[in-house]
Amino acid sequence: MKIKILGSGFYGCHLAIALLKSGHDVVIHEIKDRMFAGASGSIPARIHRGFHYPRSATTRDACNAHYEEFMARYGRFTHGVPVNLYAIAARESLVDFQTYRHILKGSVEFITVEYPEEYGLQNVEGALLTGERHIVIDKVKTYFEEALKGKVVLNSPHDVGGDFDWVIDATFCANQNIGVDRYEPCLVVILKGADTAKAVTIMDGPFPSLYPWDEEKGLSSLSSALWTPFSKTCKTYAEAKAILDGLTRKDLEERGKNMIESMARFYPAIKEYTPVEYRTSIRAIPFSGSDARLVEVIETAPHVIRIRAGKIDAVVQAEREVKKIIGI
Ligand SMILES: Cc1cc2nc3c(=O)[nH]c(=O)nc-3n(C[C@H](O)[C@H](O)[C@H](O)COP(=O)(O)OP(=O)(O)OC[C@H]3O[C@@H](n4cnc5c(N)ncnc54)[C@H](O)[C@@H]3O)c2cc1C
Repeated sequence: MKIKILGSGFYGCHLAIALLKSGHDVVIHEIKDRMFAGASGSIPARIHRGFHYPRSATTRDACNAHYEEFMARYGRFTHGVPVNLYAIAARESLVDFQTYRHILKGSVEFITVEYPEEYGLQNVEGALLTGERHIVIDKVKTYFEEALKGKVVLNSPHDVGGDFDWVIDATFCANQNIGVDRYEPCLVVILKGADTAKAVTIMDGPFPSLYPWDEEKGLSSLSSALWTPFSKTCKTYAEAKAILDGLTRKDLEERGKNMIESMARFYPAIKEYTPVEYRTSIRAIPFSGSDARLVEVIETAPHVIRIRAGKIDAVVQAEREVKKIIGI
């Protein structure tokens, strides 16, 4: 079959490889001048095991359901995080520490930290240590660039039309807003810092998360439930894009400073990190379960499939659903 994929993010690339392997004629059209130009290239790329989602049992279950199959395909592009701390803010957290532990007990493994201050934490009610991994984005991007040589047309803004047996829209809903509640223009800051062995995530609510980005380059990422989204009210992709397009370097630096300040309340060592890059992207948030981060694969028109991803780890699930719809 002749298949056109829109978007060369993690989902578009993964699906292209899977469909090529099944013997189909696949081409990816990417609107930008490079692959991974959207969310997949601009996020902390944490492979969550459930710690982020005390308010969504469905997402916690999905994290664990997808973990093994994701690691079997892409584990070689991931890195373990030697010291991975999840701490509950002493005030303002939506859940208290005992409730958080209670929710996670039995579904994921962790160690309760006796003295969080020994890990440089302050203003927290309690903390857990756990083993999670993250994807080294530049490595997986290089892999996709090589594996899909000759199959990706860059600078090619496409829609769902054309003479194809199937079109798969993997633009993270840039083209179609069915089932999308809002679009969030987002910022993630890449920092240079000595300690890429440590991840610190403050829970549960408008708090920041420091994560390794690329250990070999000494880089970490910083995101924040409060400061990462520039807006939570954009009803269209175009509205979110206009916000990002209008940002100056100063706007990005100011947001970055706010993120660092909010982390410094809990983890003062963040002050020893220096911002080196600001990465922006647009996230499509689904209707209803705002805490649910599940992948949605739907046929929006005859022979047009639209992917709305919640997290990266569900790529194999998306492949299964696409193949079922296509009938292969
Ligand atoms: C701030 C933030 C933090 C996140 N943290 C994590 C995390 O830690 N772990 C995790 O698993 N997930 C995380 N996510 C979610 C994750 O980023 C997404 O689920 C995933 O990257 C989506 O991949 P995708 O391939 O569907 O979309 P994208 O990576 O956005 O790719 C879409 C591609 O389509 C292209 N495109 C757009 N319009 C067109 C067009 N008309 N024609 C052709 N191409 C087009 C874009 O340029 C882009 O390259 C986070 C998201 C955000 C925003």
